Amino acid sequence: MRTVFVSEFPAIQHRHGNGDIVTVRLKRSKGEVQVVCDGCDTRFVYRKPTRSKIAHFKSPLLPPIKGNWDSGEDEQ
Ligand SMILES: [Zn+2]
Repeated sequence: MRTVFVSEFPAIQHRHGNGDIVTVRLKRSKGEVQVVCDGCDTRFVYRKPTRSKIAHFKSPLLPPIKGNWDSGEDEQ
């Protein structure tokens, strides 16, 4: 079974191989918030979004930005 970590709650929408959009609702169990979708044999586990120290982009549709925001160059 595949495990996918998601940051949405309480419902997860995903696509099956046949093109169906399926919505599953996460449930709290054993200290985790998760749901198993039998349709695609996938376990969805909720993880709170955490701040990342690595610069990354929310959407691949955004144009790339030159430079590294964390380089501190502006403070020199
Ligand atoms: Zn599924």
